[in-house]
Amino acid sequence: MPDLAGELSRALPGMRASSGEADRVTYSRDLWPRHHLDVRAGQPAMHRPGAIVWPASTDEVARVVRWARERSVPLVPFGAGSGVCGGIAPREDVVVVDLKRLDRIRALDAEAPLVAVEAGHMGVPFEQALGSAGFTLGHFPSSILCSTVGGWVAARSAGQCSGAYGKIEDMVSALECVTGAGEVVRLRRRRSGPDLVPLVVGSEGTMAIVTSAELRLHPAPACRGFGAWSFPTTVDGWQAMRALFQAGLRPAVARLYDPFDAMLAKQGGVRKETAKRARGATGARARSFGGTALRAVLRRPGALNELLHSRVAARALGGAMLVVIFEGTDEGAQRGLDEARRVCESMGGVWEGEAPARRWLAHRYSVSYRQAPVFADGAFVDTMEVAARWSKLGDLYEGVRRALGEHVFVMAHFSHAYPDGCCIYFSFAGSADPGLVRELGWDAACAATYDRAWRAALAAAVESGGTLSHHHGVGRSKAPRLGAELGHGVGVVRSLMKAFDPAGILNPGNLLPPPSADAPGGSPVTSSPGLDRESLLACIDASTELAAAERALNDDGLTLDLGAVLPSSRACTLGEWLARGAPGARDRWLDPADQLLAGLDATLADGRALGTIGVIGPARMNYSRVIPLVDFTAEMIGEALGKP
Ligand SMILES: Cc1cc2nc3c(=O)[nH]c(=O)nc-3n(C[C@H](O)[C@H](O)[C@H](O)COP(=O)(O)OP(=O)(O)OC[C@H]3O[C@@H](n4cnc5c(N)ncnc54)[C@H](O)[C@@H]3O)c2cc1C
Repeated sequence: MPDLAGELSRALPGMRASSGEADRVTYSRDLWPRHHLDVRAGQPAMHRPGAIVWPASTDEVARVVRWARERSVPLVPFGAGSGVCGGIAPREDVVVVDLKRLDRIRALDAEAPLVAVEAGHMGVPFEQALGSAGFTLGHFPSSILCSTVGGWVAARSAGQCSGAYGKIEDMVSALECVTGAGEVVRLRRRRSGPDLVPLVVGSEGTMAIVTSAELRLHPAPACRGFGAWSFPTTVDGWQAMRALFQAGLRPAVARLYDPFDAMLAKQGGVRKETAKRARGATGARARSFGGTALRAVLRRPGALNELLHSRVAARALGGAMLVVIFEGTDEGAQRGLDEARRVCESMGGVWEGEAPARRWLAHRYSVSYRQAPVFADGAFVDTMEVAARWSKLGDLYEGVRRALGEHVFVMAHFSHAYPDGCCIYFSFAGSADPGLVRELGWDAACAATYDRAWRAALAAAVESGGTLSHHHGVGRSKAPRLGAELGHGVGVVRSLMKAFDPAGILNPGNLLPPPSADAPGGSPVTSSPGLDRESLLACIDASTELAAAERALNDDGLTLDLGAVLPSSRACTLGEWLARGAPGARDRWLDPADQLLAGLDATLADGRALGTIGVIGPARMNYSRVIPLVDFTAEMIGEALGKP
């Protein structure tokens, strides 16, 4: 094995680097639960990197990248390693670039308000620093304790308050990055012409290393309005959630729990205490008894799933529960809650008071960190977050639930809602399929069950018209399935990667399937022109005049809400208008949960159809965005980056 740390130190004097065994083990993975199964099976560090480097400035990052490019050494950017999709799985010939020494707040413009922050800043101290200046970013992923700003941008993260503040892509006004060529580029959000910021957001370390981001801020909320309602079924609950967002309400937090998840959520913080008491002095023995029981239950998940998802069980468990929190000024938060109460109760919701929402807030980060004992007990847990437009949400919910349910025990909650769709967050727990244990042994059988569950669930998500991911990213775990959703879009993303990183040294193997898999089996899904009233989406042919489209929608009591654009667009077709960058369209900055363009079908110059890019899950897919991808050639990117 080459001494990469030694070479780095010699080539770049003063740069902190290590190839110590402890460091190599520490940086060998992220928190993808599949890695945990390997660890439990006695393989704690299958993906040790050759070295780790800790640059402390953008210039140092650029020097590392140039060194790596000359030597053809792959680099893996590393934030805090909290990713859950295998975005970090290095090899011995790889150098991991830990960004955490880039942790300064460079500037805070209280007028705009905007903050320029370096990529390695950890979530909690960042939000604390903003809070002491009277601001919030409004980005609170459950992993805020163990994730960085750069990781959020790279993985297209969503926080718990996305209903009001949007996802991280709705917060980025500029990025400073180092491309794979070692050049420092500054990309700024643009409202006309090509906007390169969205290409780097969600690129998971494959196009550029983010060194700093300029992010929009909001005044720290002065007040909150809390509310919760129970609904007979999960479907009743999500119809209310849809009604809230389509009525223009923007609760920062809106989470709907299915009956089983709701029952756990209602128990909230008391669970931990009860469990501790129950263990008492004989903690170890009680745990192992619990483990045996857990494994026994999880060996036959199908029957348990069917039982718990029946109407009778839903009633017995107390139904689904919707929890909302509005925040802002005193009157705004309370007004929002009053209006939500009117909507929910007119749709059959039963007011559960403020307590469930307050309890959720008090324990908002605790649930996610309870995985370790389950693995220690010989089982596994994981989560899968997918999204669909409202009219497809039922298919997505049933399809994924059934697919997972054959292999593992499943529950779900719905968070991150938009006027046109919603994210479903499945949590599941499993154990080794008894049929495989004799043949493979416990750990390998667990891994095989885990892989089967994921394969089935991802296939079901795509089949039912959903996305593969909403905010965790793609990583190596979902990359092999990307073609099924993106079609030829995979090839387009590959071209973009090449433009940013010509030598392909940035996180190779992440995000995309191998090139041989670029031609997807089937043809990409294209949307059929028409109106999806439930999702408030209209699919309009590009040759339609904008004004004619508006008239047709008006006949149905709807509008594109283009305001001043329409009078001057009489002879302008939708396609022409989009190709010009949709001038005059409402700025997403104003309402991150909403946007005019949810997706498009496009044809590449060579005639290949791209399918419907971004039409589902409000264009929140992790690898692409609603932009006229057809126009994005390597030359254009070069031009936009200021290269000859
Ligand atoms: C308990 C738990 C709860 C979670 N909850 C949420 C949640 O609520 N919302 C959510 O969105 N996610 C959540 N996640 C997933 C994860 O925290 C996010 O994906 C987060 O954005 C990753 O940040 P990180 O700094 O840890 O990045 P890492 O895990 O270090 O990296 C993630 C990916 O981005 C790349 N990368 C990292 N930094 C950079 C950079 N500066 N430039 C370029 N590429 C980079 C890496 O190569 C990797 O591919 C959760 C994870 C855990 C373990």
